[in-house]
Amino acid sequence: MSADRVEMPHNAVSAVIDRRYREGRIGRFRSAVTLVTGTGAVNVGAMSDASPNPAAFSCPVPLARQEEIQMAHGGGGRLTQQLIDRVFAPAFHNPALDARHDGALLSAPPSGLRLAFTTDSHVVSPLFFPGGDIGALAVHGTVNDLAMCGARPKWLSAGFILEEGLPIATLERAVASMGAAARAAGVEIVTGDTKVVERGKGDGLYVNTAGVGWIEHGLTIAPTSVRAGDIVLLSGDVGRHGMAILAQREGLAFESPIESDSAPLWPAVEALLAAGIAVHCLRDLTRGGLATAVIEIAEAAGLAMALDETAVPVSEPVRGACEILGLDPLYVANEGRFVAFVPAAQADAALAIIGKTAPGGPPARIGEVRPAPAGQVTLRSVVGVERVLDRLSGEQLPRIC
Ligand code: MG
Repeated sequence: MSADRVEMPHNAVSAVIDRRYREGRIGRFRSAVTLVTGTGAVNVGAMSDASPNPAAFSCPVPLARQEEIQMAHGGGGRLTQQLIDRVFAPAFHNPALDARHDGALLSAPPSGLRLAFTTDSHVVSPLFFPGGDIGALAVHGTVNDLAMCGARPKWLSAGFILEEGLPIATLERAVASMGAAARAAGVEIVTGDTKVVERGKGDGLYVNTAGVGWIEHGLTIAPTSVRAGDIVLLSGDVGRHGMAILAQREGLAFESPIESDSAPLWPAVEALLAAGIAVHCLRDLTRGGLATAVIEIAEAAGLAMALDETAVPVSEPVRGACEILGLDPLYVANEGRFVAFVPAAQADAALAIIGKTAPGGPPARIGEVRPAPAGQVTLRSVVGVERVLDRLSGEQLPRIC
């Protein structure tokens, strides 16, 4: 990956990066090798495969045409079949998918249980980044949205939009990661679709996943269930995913490399429910980060939230990178962190359970719910000043998921 190649339109963040680079406050790697020797933490393979642009892939031998995605791979004919046999079937393989039917035939939940259903599209750039890739992210994004509904993730669909010219090896790598992430999360990818767009009309690979889960309890885990007096718990440190993507995309070399926190969250939710915690609301901290998630819930619940900035865990590498780039870690995306709104009487028990079962710990008690003013989120800062948090006015970091 060359630092000269600008993949995203220059936005405010890029302008700050350029300025910091000129000031000598951050390093930029000119090649994968420079980064590896500079930090000793990112391997050459990960870097050389990091670009979403097929043209930028370096390979010791030229790729044969049949080793790249062709328009016919999306045509439903022989090449489509070959792609399914070679790439998708071995990675996903389960009875519903192996039936090769137009749709998956699934069992209904036991009588009285509710279903949760969600969908998410993934356009992350680059496709591979420290701590994850588009395949694993497409699983985690959807199973986590199900988990946030209090649902046990059961089944996923997978829709792939491929750009003509994408190396099939790149697709195989992302799909293998997706299959592994699904198995680790306890879900099956039971139906799917592949389409191909012409060279230059996509960006290598986009993945849509939809998911179905079972709600095996009587709670309504939703913003409308939040009550004044509830405690806000945060499952771990924030800001890793967004900063990992930004560093990779812009070719930034921080002193300590930052890895994405991409991970499944259902095990922590399952443990809370099994322990009898009356969970009122859950939200994963994806686009817009912690601040946006809490604002959304405050508005939907018609309640106020008071957060304590000193209680929010932020790792030193993320804090340092955010300070240099002028970003607020509270607004940076995560893919494996959540907030839980629980009754005050159960907050300590819930915190202990999250600490044992959620990735990225230790968790923290970061605030409480107040009756009014409706929709207002305040943050008590490190120096004791209280300010009102607002939604971001624009896109801070585009294409992070
Ligand atoms: Mg979500």
